[in-house]
Amino acid sequence: MSPRATLAPTDTQLDPTAALLAGQPGEQRGWIFNIQRCSVQDGPGIRSTVFLKGCPLCCAWCHNPEGQAPQPELIVLDTRCIACGQCRNACAFGQAWDAAQPPRPPAENCALCGECVAVCPTGARQLIGEHRSVASVVAAVEPDRIFYDESGGGVTFSGGEPLLQPDFLKALLEACRARGLRTAVDTCGFACTETLLAVAQRADLILFDVKLMEEAKHRQYTGVSNGPILENLRALDRVHKDLWLRVPLIPGINDDAANLDAVARLALGLTGLRQISLLPYHRAGALKFRRLGQACALADLEPPSASAVERAAAHLRAFGLEVRTGR
Ligand code: SF4
Ligand code: SF4
Repeated sequence: MSPRATLAPTDTQLDPTAALLAGQPGEQRGWIFNIQRCSVQDGPGIRSTVFLKGCPLCCAWCHNPEGQAPQPELIVLDTRCIACGQCRNACAFGQAWDAAQPPRPPAENCALCGECVAVCPTGARQLIGEHRSVASVVAAVEPDRIFYDESGGGVTFSGGEPLLQPDFLKALLEACRARGLRTAVDTCGFACTETLLAVAQRADLILFDVKLMEEAKHRQYTGVSNGPILENLRALDRVHKDLWLRVPLIPGINDDAANLDAVARLALGLTGLRQISLLPYHRAGALKFRRLGQACALADLEPPSASAVERAAAHLRAFGLEVRTGR
């Protein structure tokens, strides 16, 4: 895995859709790849989580690899493919495909036109990523308002990395606030500081990911330095008073005492911290990598046992921190 960047990126580097969107009349639009209703892990209460596409990191354990690329992608569910060949016949580039099954086009030969998706009789092919307006996203989450109100929940914007589409994200947050919907933003923190703070102003809660405290290991497993991320966290803590840290628990990578101690020391220095969420590694991401036709660096890694998760949580609680464990 090669490092992607060493310095905090600029908005222009981080927002590949900016050029497309700039100057467009009408309502702000952006790329999303899922809206998950009745989520209970992405903030307090019952929530809807909106997943925005694109991420500057490439974590080896990524649970949502279909959110990494900023543009739409074609996925193939091999278990549904009956090798009928209709997709190849429908595709303008079909003759160039490898004969391997399930049939995947070379990425450089796919125009993402969706012709093959339309003819597939089993639903084995899907285009991931929709270009949606703010109004359509808000219309999708608003019907669950009664659940948000009764449970203290709301809407969470996650990804991918939602800060990769800063104008779209700010417009979504403002639209939710105007309708009285409480919001959270789940971020990896690798962003332009001004953008992060501008987004934070518009969000009720920030879920901030802390993956690895040792810089070299962070670079090895996520592709980027954690320096700008930790600086951003401290800047955020000076202005936002409702932060949760989210720590993925990856066996053999960040579950050692030294890393947990460093996370605890970081957390104790934050004034706006409300809790730490410990998120045990699970294998859903490995399956998604395969559907995307990509290699998964941790394909054989087993999730941590329940007792290992409890041990890690107890380790952090021993520092006096509020810790909850999730999926
Ligand atoms: S999305 Fe279009 S270009 Fe891409 S493989 Fe399917 S038919 Fe071919
Ligand atoms: S059309 Fe669908 S089922 Fe048929 S070969 Fe293509 S992916 Fe498989």
